[in-house]
Amino acid sequence: MNAEKKLTFLINNPTMHVDLKRIAEKVLAEERITFDEGVLLYEKGDLNYLGVLANYIREKKHGHYTYFNRNFHIEPTNVCVYDCKFCSYSRMIKQREEGWEMDVDGMMDIVKKYDNEPVTEVHITGGVVPKQNLDFYAEFFKRCKAHRPDLHIKGLTPVEYYYIFKKAKLSHYDGLKYLKECGLDSMPGGGAEIFHPEIREQIAHDKCTAEQWLDIHEQAHKLGMHTNATMLYGHIEQFWHRVDHMERLRQLQDKTGGFQTFIPLKFRNKDNQMAHVPEVSVIEDLRNYAIARIYMDNFPHIKAYWAMISRDTAQLSLAYGVNDIDGTLDDTTKIYSMAGAEEQNPAMTTQELVELIRHVGRHPIERDTLYNVITDYKDVIFEEDKAKKYYALPVVN
Ligand code: SF4
Repeated sequence: MNAEKKLTFLINNPTMHVDLKRIAEKVLAEERITFDEGVLLYEKGDLNYLGVLANYIREKKHGHYTYFNRNFHIEPTNVCVYDCKFCSYSRMIKQREEGWEMDVDGMMDIVKKYDNEPVTEVHITGGVVPKQNLDFYAEFFKRCKAHRPDLHIKGLTPVEYYYIFKKAKLSHYDGLKYLKECGLDSMPGGGAEIFHPEIREQIAHDKCTAEQWLDIHEQAHKLGMHTNATMLYGHIEQFWHRVDHMERLRQLQDKTGGFQTFIPLKFRNKDNQMAHVPEVSVIEDLRNYAIARIYMDNFPHIKAYWAMISRDTAQLSLAYGVNDIDGTLDDTTKIYSMAGAEEQNPAMTTQELVELIRHVGRHPIERDTLYNVITDYKDVIFEEDKAKKYYALPVVN
């Protein structure tokens, strides 16, 4: 049964809760669901119901296409002036000796390691320290672009920018304009956590506010840059806080259209100040992806970071609204592994990513950061597969 037939079958089920039926009808009619309906999905939508709705939207928007890219990360420092309770990655300024702080040469050494490698994106994010200021990043962006003009720089979040621009006495717009001139291409989605102050003040009390986060993205969109957005879920927030978070993003997207991808990030509880908070189940992960796909009707893509949620859950998520699983990574990020993710040295070859996607019947597409197709892997046969020999099994009487 195709995705539309499954949805119609669901709608015609006479035992369906009347409000859930109404939401399913809205999805079929491509109508936007309300805030209250978003909360109702969290409270009453079971995994099967949510999967049918989310997969219908996913296939309507992208068919079976599932995107990944070839990328690497640079994490310039894990020392941080802030004190987010959920963070397993940062070392406070006073624990500086336990952390690392790169200089521009060190960052360029990482970029140069990928000379002649077909990577298309460098993703830069980390802690916030006074030395890594406006001049520091301006110099890095310029040198990186001069060295490798084709490499897309997806760099820093509003958490870093708010701090850097305040110190430099620049407006968000002027600061971003200057760094764009230096080579910055786009912004990743981190630092959003949960926007509502009731939760934000408990888990991330001293970094940029929701309004500041959203304004920095808005200014980036005004400058023609694309950005992503995340949501850290599954800790002390309630369902309506998640919907509030998505609602604020949906409203900004209506205004600017500059977001590409929404990335739900699972709270992990290893070695942080919230280690007593249990992690949510895989079922809740999948429900959350599905509701994100249903609610965020104006976001083109929903991404599952395989390095954060494991390869198996990333595969499953492709049936619950997700159409992007991120990149090759090459073991260049510590943020997820330090928080307790299953993948302690996250790296996948292109072939592994392609096979992961193919094994669940989806169509692998290598993209660049802006979702231009680089290679369609539907019918690509890898050299190793060509070399494989198959033998008939002996018949046993
Ligand atoms: S989450 Fe980011 S801003 Fe917060 S302490 Fe960790 S590194 Fe710093």
